[in-house]
Amino acid sequence: MLDCAIIGGGPAGLTAGLYATRGGLENVTLFEMGMPGGQITQSSEIENYPGFFEHDKTGMDFMDTWQKQCFHFGLKHEMKKVESVAKTGEHFTITVEGGETYEAMTVITCTGSVPKRAGFKGEDTYFGKGVSTCATCDGFFYKNKPVTVLGGGDTALEEAFFLSNICSDVYVVHRRESFRAAPPTLDRVMRKENIHLITDSVIEEAVGDAMGLSGVDIKNTKTGDVTHMDNTGLFVFVGHNVNNGVLKDDNGEFICEVTDWGQVIVDLSMKTNVPGLFMAGDIRIEAPKQVVSAAGDGSIAALQVISYLQELA
Ligand code: FAD
Ligand code: NAP
Repeated sequence: MLDCAIIGGGPAGLTAGLYATRGGLENVTLFEMGMPGGQITQSSEIENYPGFFEHDKTGMDFMDTWQKQCFHFGLKHEMKKVESVAKTGEHFTITVEGGETYEAMTVITCTGSVPKRAGFKGEDTYFGKGVSTCATCDGFFYKNKPVTVLGGGDTALEEAFFLSNICSDVYVVHRRESFRAAPPTLDRVMRKENIHLITDSVIEEAVGDAMGLSGVDIKNTKTGDVTHMDNTGLFVFVGHNVNNGVLKDDNGEFICEVTDWGQVIVDLSMKTNVPGLFMAGDIRIEAPKQVVSAAGDGSIAALQVISYLQELA
């Protein structure tokens, strides 16, 4: 029986592993379907993690020492995809790909989320080279420069507002005339002089060269006209997929409470409504989707696991 099973080896899961093992738990296993590190390993640079200020290091370099540190303190690692988590009496059963099962007293789920791609030409080519899904991470690279934002939901408009305080102009491209975002959010955006709304339009193509993105072709869906705009930053906010599949039972029902859009509801201790089941990182409600906050969540969840096990003993 594991003291704690950690599912997902991104910043949240690795930090949970570090705190759980250094906190005295001897039997802690991290289940990660690939190499530990998480989403940030796709990034060419990270500039907003406190204390880390090395411009020549990629996200992969950045996470390398996190794994080494955790494994040094006794965290075990199974490179296996978890299929499901079920509560069976007092403990949990974790089923991995192939059907093998593990029993654990507690579970911290840290499976993260994935920003959706819009599917326009050049999106993948320039992803990380001008095309971004994170304004907090990359907005500063476009200080006093114009940028384009794609999407018409709450995230797109909130992030456009955030960018408007850094960038010279923000062009929001949305495929319909009316916005999905909440009316007060739209009002606030419309009052900002340097945000320009381009409706009934899509990104036809992101264009550039070996240096990265240099511009966008915007197509008006009503007239068919295509306008080229020189622009080195394009932020895509067309929704997120929360990786919550492991929390569904055989009937497809969630084993714990989630929001309408799939984020897991936790309190400030990262506790779900199921005793012994904790979340950390991008999967939880109102996650800021940052490495530093995912790591913070991981530490909180692990400390709560230690208290929970002490109370059971
Ligand atoms: P993740 O990092 O998503 O890790 C989840 C892990 O769980 C993954 O490794 C995945 O393989 C694993 N997993 C999922 N399902 C299963 C399963 N069923 N079984 C086993 N394992 C599973 N944030 C910043 O603070 N600064 C930045 O500069 C920055 N830049 C970014 C650049 C890019 C390109 C991207 C994509 C994100 C960036 N972020 C940045 C956001 C940051 O990476 C995330 O907020 C953070 O990684 C979330 O951590 P997490 O541990 O919650 O989840
Ligand atoms: P969302 O509400 O699903 O909006 C996605 C937007 O992207 C929509 O405007 C959609 O257009 C557009 N879009 C989708 N696919 C596209 C494509 N391929 N090409 C071009 N445009 C595309 O996603 P979200 O904004 O991330 O929000 C997710 C949930 O979180 C929502 O329920 C939202 O209310 C909530 N949220 C709340 C807050 C808050 O309360 N402060 C903040 C952020 C998010 P259409 O409108 O035409 O479909």
